[in-house]
Amino acid sequence: MPAESAIVPWCDPVQWDAWVGHHGGRPLHARRIIKTLARKPLSDLADVELPRSLRVALAAAPPLRSRIAQRQVAADGTVKLLVQYPDGLCVEAVLMNGDRPGCCAACLSSQIGCAMACDFCATARGGLRRNLSADEIVEQFFWLNHHAEAADCRIASVVYMGMGEPLANLAAAEASIRFLTDPRWNLLGPRQITVSTVGIPAGIARLAEAQLGVHLAWSLHAADDALRRTLLPAAGHWPIAQTLTECRRFMQQTNRYVTISYCLLRDVNDSPACAAALSGLLAASGFHVNLIPLNQIGTGLSGAVYHPSDKQTALNFQQTLIAAGLPTHIRRRRGQDIAAACGQLQGAHAADKSAAPYGA
Ligand code: SAH
Repeated sequence: MPAESAIVPWCDPVQWDAWVGHHGGRPLHARRIIKTLARKPLSDLADVELPRSLRVALAAAPPLRSRIAQRQVAADGTVKLLVQYPDGLCVEAVLMNGDRPGCCAACLSSQIGCAMACDFCATARGGLRRNLSADEIVEQFFWLNHHAEAADCRIASVVYMGMGEPLANLAAAEASIRFLTDPRWNLLGPRQITVSTVGIPAGIARLAEAQLGVHLAWSLHAADDALRRTLLPAAGHWPIAQTLTECRRFMQQTNRYVTISYCLLRDVNDSPACAAALSGLLAASGFHVNLIPLNQIGTGLSGAVYHPSDKQTALNFQQTLIAAGLPTHIRRRRGQDIAAACGQLQGAHAADKSAAPYGA
């Protein structure tokens, strides 16, 4: 049998029902299989009532094609998985404790590597290797959900903030969101999902048109085009004003809010003047602002080394925005000791020998 025909199309609702039907199953079996794969290891399918022919077909072509190449657990409980695909390439996916007990948050990667070249982000260093398909994105959710289930925790939010730029791989990101929010599996509602983008205007417009019901986060990091170009070279193609207009339209068309992500870099974008410029740019617009403490990654692609702002500077910055009427939070750092925090994902094996292999 050629390798391609072994791929089970479980991520496409129409093809999946047809595949299950072709192997003697019914829609209820199609639903049962997905519900099990999403929550438990594959071996648990043995306990699911299925026609024999369907069971044989599934045994011949295991539906999940990725594997966990490494698992690390941080001091704060954050879990980072290195997910490896059949071509050997890897991404990282992260499970964090949520704000409420019993709830956690999942961070998914949308591409292997990234072409956006953001100067303070570790993912940028290796460039873009390839796009992920929808099922490859969803498999990350499945693996994280198995961990959550084992820990008696419910994934209450999913952010597309891992490796890659989701709007540069929008068809797959969209299909993965449609799958995750499909009411048949009862996994997530669209409001529990946030897509984070460097700010590609055409992608934001397409995401709004798709009416997925998800939230959007725009990684802005500077209120001024010249400074932004030095930090986010690829995003420099799109003037701030153009993306801002698209974000406003997104809010009108979808009735979902847009969060502005702003990573505070000491002596680069954290001065009172920068805070005033950001307030002026966003005033009276309905945006929320998330200030992100920089997670240090060493030297950026340009050769620059960035440092996090000190605590008081961050608090002053926050106060300026709040005084301008912008709800502003400072994001909590998570999983820094295992390089699982924002901007630290590289899709590579950690040298850390204490990292436990999956299942250990
Ligand atoms: N490409 C998307 C999603 C991936 S990056 C985007 O740009 O939004 C997820 C978030 O982490 C972005 O806001 C990004 O700017 C931020 N980030 C990147 N490097 C970081 C670092 N070293 N410390 C803190 N946040 C970082």
